[in-house]
Amino acid sequence: MTLPPSPAVRGFLPDDEGWHLHKLAQQAAELGPLLEIGSYCGRSTLWLAEAARAQQTVVFALDHHRGSEEHQVGEAFHDETLVDDLGQVDTLREFRRTISQAGLDEQVIAMVASTEQLGRHWQGIAFGLVFIDGGHSLEAALTDWRTFGQRVMPGGFLAIHDVFPDPATGGQAPYTVWRMALASGLYEHHSQCGSLRALRRLR
Ligand code: MG
Repeated sequence: MTLPPSPAVRGFLPDDEGWHLHKLAQQAAELGPLLEIGSYCGRSTLWLAEAARAQQTVVFALDHHRGSEEHQVGEAFHDETLVDDLGQVDTLREFRRTISQAGLDEQVIAMVASTEQLGRHWQGIAFGLVFIDGGHSLEAALTDWRTFGQRVMPGGFLAIHDVFPDPATGGQAPYTVWRMALASGLYEHHSQCGSLRALRRLR
């Protein structure tokens, strides 16, 4: 068992939220594969992949691995050790290292693309769980919701990270997506842990 991930594994999902996500994923993996949008260095992926292992399914881990807005040079969450020889943010190498070290290569399929790029060509698949934790601009979050947010099997979960109803505590894009999902009539509120919110697919 690789949970909780070592503190050395870079990422932004606190352990209590990780456990919550893991429990959702354990149920969801009985329905089908899992989709993570925004993998960064793989810390959150580990929570999902351990659940996938138990059900012999997989996590599709979608990330362009060029970093979100806040990871770019000069931004709040920039990490200079994650810049490649072309001067671009590159989290793919670290992501693969995380997954390999945990022995979860068989359970994780890295999808190196933007949501828009992949969504245009990858249709007709539904997931036991979709975890939206990608870019936090309104445009990025809306694209994640519109492209994959409705591809959840009945009984499965849509999980959204960094949901902050109070603008003083955080950006509003994930909260907007959460409200849209609830308003769609496709989901009901399921549970919450910190800034992680889960909705259950009704039909
Ligand atoms: Mg997050």
